[in-house]
Amino acid sequence: MSCCVLVMLATGVELVEADPPAWSPAESPPRIFYQTVEELRSFYKLADAPRAARKGAYAMVHEDATVELGPGVRELRINGVNITLGRPLMRDSAGKLLISRDDWVYWIDPILRPTYIANRTKLDTVVIDASHGGHDTGTICAASRESQVVLQVAQALQKELETAGLRCLLTRTGDYFLSDRQRVELANAVPGAIFVSLHLNSSNADVSGPSVYTITPFPVDAASPRPSSAFCCKSSALAYALQYTLSSETHLPGNGCRHAQYSLLSSLTMPAVSVELGYASNPKEAAALTSPDYQTRLAAALARGILNYSRAAAPEAKIPVATAPPQKVKSQPRKEPVKSSADRQKKRDKDRSGRKNRPRR
Ligand SMILES: [Zn+2]
Repeated sequence: MSCCVLVMLATGVELVEADPPAWSPAESPPRIFYQTVEELRSFYKLADAPRAARKGAYAMVHEDATVELGPGVRELRINGVNITLGRPLMRDSAGKLLISRDDWVYWIDPILRPTYIANRTKLDTVVIDASHGGHDTGTICAASRESQVVLQVAQALQKELETAGLRCLLTRTGDYFLSDRQRVELANAVPGAIFVSLHLNSSNADVSGPSVYTITPFPVDAASPRPSSAFCCKSSALAYALQYTLSSETHLPGNGCRHAQYSLLSSLTMPAVSVELGYASNPKEAAALTSPDYQTRLAAALARGILNYSRAAAPEAKIPVATAPPQKVKSQPRKEPVKSSADRQKKRDKDRSGRKNRPRR
């Protein structure tokens, strides 16, 4: 994180949150620092977007990204990708909308400005974690099992990434069980890596779409250590990049990007995400998830997301990870270049000779 961000953030409004977030088991929530959304807006020089896609939300534009924030919600959207904030937006006594400093620093900034992430290194290897395996089949997915579906997608992703020139390590290559500890040991031995764990989700039959979870940057309670900020920021950028390409590919809502307290993620010494490829509990999506065609499409979307992240978070990169969705370009009538009088004469001569050479009927 750049010094100027930290200096600016240090002047933030300090509040004690009345309602601790659901994911935090903390009995007495730690003190939380807030900034006004207005400060965030002026820091990134955000301009008003023409219209927010969501009712009641503010839409702001940052270079290629449209950021949407709404009062009283825990979500913001960057280019249509939902990001669940660690803390809900609040209002101060003067009615100003506030956002937690941690959400700003660990969620929003790495997405809008990955070039400010500390200790950026070239991505060398992708550790692809096909979750479950052996007696641990995971959830049932149509006629298949989660352990089998994620292994098939993992193998397809390996092919995509190796074709693109990245090294891959699969935590498992067959139907056998691995403990979280074994997965962590395998991954932590690989330098310059990121960790992408693949899962399937399960809920009501009508819920669908992919979601990406990443390590929470927040301390669980006042006494617990804060996870490494460098990994948190890189993981946020990676989570966004993957959710963006998965959403673009599937056009299904999913849960967007979220924080999680998974012990597997917090034991890793690298940027790490857990990807829920879709809902096995949705019969239509479950059928798709077991089809080789859909698995190939998911793998290709994951690979595009990883490559986007790798380019944006590379040491020499100057591009944001939040690339705008492709715009529809209106076809313009083609303008003829301005011609000199000599050119016009040449064209008249050519037309005349063309008329002469035209076959007679
Ligand atoms: Zn799972």
